[in-house]
Amino acid sequence: MFKRILIANRGEIALRIIRACKKLNIETVAIYSVADKNAEHVRISDHAICIGQAPVSESYLNIPAIISAAQITKADAIHPGYGFLAENAKFAEICEKSNICFIGPNSASIALMGNKISAIKALQAFDILPVPGSSQTNTLDLAKSEAHRIGYPVLIKAAFAGGGRGMRIVKNATDFDLAYHEAKIEAKHACDNETIYIEKYLNEPRHIEFQVISDHYGHVELLGERDCSIQRRYQKIIEEGPVTNIPMAVIQPIREKLKLATQKLGYHGVGTYEFLYQDNTFYFIEMNTRLQVEHTVTEEAFNIDLCKWQILIAAGKPFQMTTKPLRYAIECRIVAENTKLGTPSPGIITKIRLPGGANIRIESELYQGIQITPYYDPMIMKVIASGDTRADALINMRQALNELLIQGIDTNISQLQLVLNQPWFITQAIHTNILTAAKEPMHEIPA
Ligand code: ADP
Repeated sequence: MFKRILIANRGEIALRIIRACKKLNIETVAIYSVADKNAEHVRISDHAICIGQAPVSESYLNIPAIISAAQITKADAIHPGYGFLAENAKFAEICEKSNICFIGPNSASIALMGNKISAIKALQAFDILPVPGSSQTNTLDLAKSEAHRIGYPVLIKAAFAGGGRGMRIVKNATDFDLAYHEAKIEAKHACDNETIYIEKYLNEPRHIEFQVISDHYGHVELLGERDCSIQRRYQKIIEEGPVTNIPMAVIQPIREKLKLATQKLGYHGVGTYEFLYQDNTFYFIEMNTRLQVEHTVTEEAFNIDLCKWQILIAAGKPFQMTTKPLRYAIECRIVAENTKLGTPSPGIITKIRLPGGANIRIESELYQGIQITPYYDPMIMKVIASGDTRADALINMRQALNELLIQGIDTNISQLQLVLNQPWFITQAIHTNILTAAKEPMHEIPA
């Protein structure tokens, strides 16, 4: 077992990983930027080391500084969390070559599945459908003729970027040229790689994802599905599961194909296969080769500690657990932003009151007086509510958000409260464009 793990991340996920390490009696090394010197992950870690200035390129993406920190502190493994270097195959490879265990799949798996184009091809070999599309986009003319063949509207997507960056919906040929160039520039800026591809744009899909866990001995388990359809600007804000309103006859064959693919591709650790679901059909869009923000939904529903198992599997332990969904869970992401303008809202948290009680879980870096800086992701808290049924979990979530108070910055709490009370949310008549499509402003509807 590992003696000491360096956590190459910050915020709530760094806290989450430190807590998992403590359960396993493993020492932790936090890394932090100058802007994070008063952060919670620094305070609760056994050791902490400053690795650079506030901008991510100088700190949380600074590979030489992070590897040096691991070597200086004699960490035998690095947990990358999500975001930052979590899906960077080069970073995983450097860890491998430096004899530091990268907690995640090996660098070859990340290279294959972290590139959306090669991931789609890899899964096609297992009869898993992607959204109709094309990776033939080397020149503008070729891309345009492929878009014509697929049929408008199309979506231009970046092969490596996440968080909706590099994505452009194109409604007709006239708009194609500009969107093509913009997407490439944005992709290059986001991930230093301008590779793009084209997909048919689906109007009202649901985002459904499959959680997988796989050890080094061929044991692969699929831990149910999560519905992450409530999004704004292609970013999830509410996730829930296990999904119970899709026919088993449609879900089961996908589960079986994914299980086989995971085994045959030699993928180890935790991972998520993301799909769009429309007209009773699943279309694979991408794989996340890491722990996801919303892993907590599965943890609550299945009563499993995915982060702990991720560490155990990386250490070579077999996965041994019966996996059955026991409860329903919903997660709301609290972000520091002005929801009307869609802009981040940095500042000092002047007052904070957390919800509590049974079936409520909070994952957060917040405390009174903390400065939310503009340098990092605006997500500052996750609230997870669970219950015996979806209706119970929803009641618990509403109460939790009613109790939650964050002052000093703008947040999306009231937007989330509105969503939770909409008839389409209550009946799960949802799709990924529902927040944009709700043309009328959402009104408060008594629960
Ligand atoms: P990212 O890695 O940037 O998050 P994804 O491929 O995971 O990109 O897609 C993010 C979201 O974008 C999806 O959940 C969905 O809302 C939307 N999206 C992606 N592909 C399509 C598509 N072909 N048609 C419609 N919406 C899509």
